[in-house]
Amino acid sequence: MDSKTITESAAEPCEQCRIGHCQPTKAPYIYWIKKQVLVFPNAPAYCCDICGQLQYDAGFLATLEMMLQELEFGMQLDKLPKSVAQPDVASQWQPTRGR
Ligand SMILES: [Zn+2]
Repeated sequence: MDSKTITESAAEPCEQCRIGHCQPTKAPYIYWIKKQVLVFPNAPAYCCDICGQLQYDAGFLATLEMMLQELEFGMQLDKLPKSVAQPDVASQWQPTRGR
C-alpha cells in the first residue's frame, strides 16, 4: 500500500484529463450530518486548469473525517443521561472538629 504523503505545494497533474494541472484553490465544501449542514467556505482544494476537475485536499478531508467522528461521538455523549455525576462526597467527609 503506497501511502506517500502529499506535501508538495507544486501543481499536480490532473487525474481526470491527464493534461492539465491541479492548481491549489479554495472551494466551498458542504457536508451534511443528518439534518445539520456544515459549510466550509474556504476549503483547500485543487482545480484543474484544463477540465476544471475539482479535488479537495486529501489532508483537509482526513482532518474533516477525524473532526466529524469526534463530533458524532460528542453528540452521542450528549444524549447520555447525566446520572454518572459523582455525588458530593467531599461534604460528607467533614472532619469533626474537637473543641
Ligand atoms: Zn483536468
